[in-house]
Amino acid sequence: MQTKMDKIVKLSNIDKSYHVGGSTLQVLRQVSVNVEKGDFLAILGASGSGKSTLMNIIGCMDTADDGSYFLDDIEVTTCNDAQLTRLRNEKIGFVFQKYHLIPQYTILQNVILPLLIRGQSRRDAIPIAEEMIRMVGLEERLNHRPNELSGGQQQRVAIARALVTTPALLLADEPTGALDSQTSKEILSLFGRLNDMGNTIIMITHDQNVARYSKRVVYLNDGVLGNESVS
Ligand code: ADP
Ligand code: MG
Repeated sequence: MQTKMDKIVKLSNIDKSYHVGGSTLQVLRQVSVNVEKGDFLAILGASGSGKSTLMNIIGCMDTADDGSYFLDDIEVTTCNDAQLTRLRNEKIGFVFQKYHLIPQYTILQNVILPLLIRGQSRRDAIPIAEEMIRMVGLEERLNHRPNELSGGQQQRVAIARALVTTPALLLADEPTGALDSQTSKEILSLFGRLNDMGNTIIMITHDQNVARYSKRVVYLNDGVLGNESVS
């Protein structure tokens, strides 16, 4: 049955080149992909295939040379830097390979920060942050600091922080790249549960075993995206 679905990401014919010295390196070639609300897409590609370049464009950290990009129905391609910053803050939760937590802050302070930056009061923000921390299973660790947690626990905190603003899109770049295989499985299962709860996820990885946890895999090969298959 065909139902109308909201498109969170709509990338059409994206080109991107880097100019170094006198030469041009084309990194993305006519990349097109749609991600609907509730999807969990893995972008799988070898080192140097253009994954980070594509992630930077999807994450509104860089712009394409050509093609069009709509994020939650907003045309990103025509945004200026200030508008891109705003879009990034409002629409996207980022999870990186290295957790990027603030070491001198407690878990609660780390997770609450995006809400305070948005101007929410501490009083309103605390219960929202606590709920997110509970969702990732770290309610016993609210007042701990990142260095008192394992790598997997730190990544859970980063995930809670990414989701505390209820972003339209969770964008994860090699989220298990620094973790052992058992902990990786736990984090990937958490992504699965978060997706079941309705979160839209794009995960970038070079690892087929990681990509398997998504609903859908697309392959990036020398800057060309193709061969969608159901995982
Ligand atoms: P991946 O994340 O899949 O390893 P990248 O997107 O980082 O791939 O890089 C794709 C290609 O673009 C590589 O050949 C890389 O050397 C080149 N590249 C990436 N960033 C830059 C840059 N800022 N300037 C010039 N070349 C770059
Ligand atoms: Mg990369």
